[in-house]
Amino acid sequence: MGAFMRTTPVLIVGGGPTGLSMAIVLARHGVRSLLVERHATTTDHPKARAVNVRTMELFRQWGVEDAVCDGALSQDFLRFIWCKTLAGEEIARIETSDGRRDGKSPTVRRIVSQDVVEQTLHQHASTLPAAKLEFSTELRSFRETRDGVDAELVDAASGKTRTCRARYMVAADGASSFVRRRLGIAMNGPAALSHQMSVYFRADLTPWTAQRPADIYYCTEGDWIGVVNGTTRWLCIARHDAGNGGPPPVSTTEEYVARIRRSVGIPDLPVEVINATLWKMGAQAAARFRSGPVFLAGDAAHVMAPTGGFGMNTGIQDAHNLGWKLAAVLAGETGPALLDTYEAERKPVAESNAAWSAGNARRIWGIQESVEAGEREAVQAGAREQVDHISSAGRALGFRYASSAVIADGAPAPAFSTQTYLPAASPGARAPHTWLVGKRGRLSILDLFERDWVLLTGSPGDSWRAALERVEPALRAGVRLVTIGSEGDFEDPTGNWRELYGLERGGAVLVRPDGHVAWRGPTGDARAGGALDDVLASVLHRRPAGAHAPDMPAPVSPDVGAAAAIRERAPASAARGR
Ligand SMILES: Cc1cc2nc3c(=O)[nH]c(=O)nc-3n(C[C@H](O)[C@H](O)[C@H](O)COP(=O)(O)OP(=O)(O)OC[C@H]3O[C@@H](n4cnc5c(N)ncnc54)[C@H](O)[C@@H]3O)c2cc1C
Repeated sequence: MGAFMRTTPVLIVGGGPTGLSMAIVLARHGVRSLLVERHATTTDHPKARAVNVRTMELFRQWGVEDAVCDGALSQDFLRFIWCKTLAGEEIARIETSDGRRDGKSPTVRRIVSQDVVEQTLHQHASTLPAAKLEFSTELRSFRETRDGVDAELVDAASGKTRTCRARYMVAADGASSFVRRRLGIAMNGPAALSHQMSVYFRADLTPWTAQRPADIYYCTEGDWIGVVNGTTRWLCIARHDAGNGGPPPVSTTEEYVARIRRSVGIPDLPVEVINATLWKMGAQAAARFRSGPVFLAGDAAHVMAPTGGFGMNTGIQDAHNLGWKLAAVLAGETGPALLDTYEAERKPVAESNAAWSAGNARRIWGIQESVEAGEREAVQAGAREQVDHISSAGRALGFRYASSAVIADGAPAPAFSTQTYLPAASPGARAPHTWLVGKRGRLSILDLFERDWVLLTGSPGDSWRAALERVEPALRAGVRLVTIGSEGDFEDPTGNWRELYGLERGGAVLVRPDGHVAWRGPTGDARAGGALDDVLASVLHRRPAGAHAPDMPAPVSPDVGAAAAIRERAPASAARGR
């Protein structure tokens, strides 16, 4: 490679939702990054249409929640409908709530298409001086060095190449990741549950949808119709297998229009095809999420069926998990071994989400088989079973990390359930939401967690303060003490925060910058002095080699059984169109 044109702490490959989120998280932690994206623009195909509640919490933190909500559909669309055709008889439906009334989050999940999400993230990232975005720029090659990565970048328009030296590289380059393939990292799980066709089209479907809005219409005499803007823009999603194991046939625009008309049930419906993509529906996770200075994130690390709507969300949350760790290690606040916890924490989540999404797809196809067999009862039962697919608050919020950045406390934790989120401040879990009141008014407790490690305790918290003052000068990790109570930094208007967090009077909980609980000391101040040194040295990975470390939690991330299932089932990479 030639003379080095530039250096950057982090090179991000790919400007999809994962890469853009990575650039935003790093910038919010004050870390410079260079993002390269080979296309000139963000995606022109809606793809994902579900932003789950955890991702919405991140968008809220990043200040893009309102912009995303402006492009979102009303919550009236939160249901699935089975019908013969869009204009025809309804067979079954299932409803869900957006969780607005359960008080478990300061925000709610949204139906908003990926093109809108990407535009919003791109617009926001462009305003952050630390995030340098270069579209129409492709990563052509790279090599790992002693100090990081040397990468060759090509300008798509001129063909000119230049080089870049980065301390770390994040491969957010999608399902057919060049970086992953070049590193020889295998994907485990089924590679192609089916071939799919996704056609983005314009048509006025309101005569048949306005009275029964839904996120998706499974048309049993046609294909699936997914809502995009709820009036004029839609997706037609269909299985598109060749049937002989060969590559799926490429359709003409006329064939797309015919499929859409058949699904709607109106033979002369005016339809304009905007674009279409053929892709493989898989359920896979990479064997490794890290190779030296290179990290895989998003679809580069895992692919999943869209049934469940977790693909984009899992990628954005990968970026959130990795971003603060890269920032902490680059700043010298934590030991470099913290970076190994990225794979330990995110791989089980990705495997579980992929296996669950594949199960949803199989169940949906089962309903279609029952329709074709004329088994109406089975259709109704199958539709009811899909409640686990549409209502996934427990999966969105209830996953728990198990790694050396988390210390177990031995207390029982709520069982994992896809449908139901049971809040608990168990080590590894997302710290539960509750409203607090501070000098500047009401805030979510989640608003305290981003840039710092936070030690939360009841007011006055003097012994924890003293312990922190004793430990901090040596560690310089920027741990912030926050006290809650009438004499504290924040008041607890609901009076339930200690119970919610499983603390007795004087207990404390240490929350990481990503809002996950690192450690909980449920009992009183008496333990403050002794425990904190050990705890912080351990989770900050600042413990001298060979020193005693506190217990790590058992691996309890989402239903480990389901995660194992994708390793057992067959192997997917997806040639996803844009
Ligand atoms: C039809 C469909 C429906 C879906 N529905 C949902 C859903 O409802 N909910 C959900 O959460 N997910 C859904 N998904 C999945 C979701 O679209 C993906 O999970 C998401 O796009 C992954 O984001 P990413 O940033 O990791 O990868 P991508 O979006 O694939 O972005 C990767 C980017 O990297 C760029 N790139 C690749 N190689 C290079 C290189 N060498 N140099 C520079 N740039 C490069 C690509 O151009 C691309 O822009 C759906 C997907 C499809 C296809």
